[in-house]
Amino acid sequence: MKPLALFGGTFDPIHLGHLSVAWEASELLDAEVRLMPASVPPHRSSPTASAEQRVEMLRAALRGQSRLLLDTRELDRSGPSYTIDTLHEFRQEFGARPLVLLLGADAFAGLRSWHRWRELFDVTHIGVLNRPGVDACVPGELERAVAPRRTDDPAVIGAQPAGRVIELAVTPLEISATRIRELLAAGRDPRYLLPAGLFDDPALLAPYRETSLH
Ligand code: ATP
Repeated sequence: MKPLALFGGTFDPIHLGHLSVAWEASELLDAEVRLMPASVPPHRSSPTASAEQRVEMLRAALRGQSRLLLDTRELDRSGPSYTIDTLHEFRQEFGARPLVLLLGADAFAGLRSWHRWRELFDVTHIGVLNRPGVDACVPGELERAVAPRRTDDPAVIGAQPAGRVIELAVTPLEISATRIRELLAAGRDPRYLLPAGLFDDPALLAPYRETSLH
């Protein structure tokens, strides 16, 4: 059975960095990928766009292909969503199917701040996506925990449900949502950093443009 890869984030807004690395991860792992927007991210400030607005942008961005799918379960829950709880839910739903949590290198380096982080390996594999501008250095405690789990063979990921860590050599793209929000707030038009679908309806990017007026 193909692995199921989960790519969580605030997606405030979804950008071509997210889409490109998720697409390449899907190819490298031969996995179905679900993009999973977070409602109230436990370890960061509130998103600029509402949950509904971020979902609308994701829908517009994902239109026309079927390799990357949207999963809104964390938004459908009230309160903060902890990844470990979401993963247990997936495990219940999908039995022994391999699960892969996709994390950008920056998110992976901060894993120790996550709720019950060591438990993640019981439920999922982790796929680390390289990201330019991110210090590749992994904190010692984290590296000690992941060293025995590392593999560079996608077949190993497909052969067991959880517990391994794989670095996925995706094309580096130095795009961040922070930079895009700054450009939009400054009245700029970062057309080729964002999926074309986000420009079909002017309402989609309005939450970021309006921030410059307040
Ligand atoms: P912000 O600038 O608001 O922090 P972001 O661009 O990092 O946003 P998030 O929604 O926070 O986007 O990221 C979701 C996931 O996507 C994280 O695991 C993050 O590391 C990863 N990610 C985002 N952009 C890239 C990129 N250009 N290359 C690789 N991974 C990325």
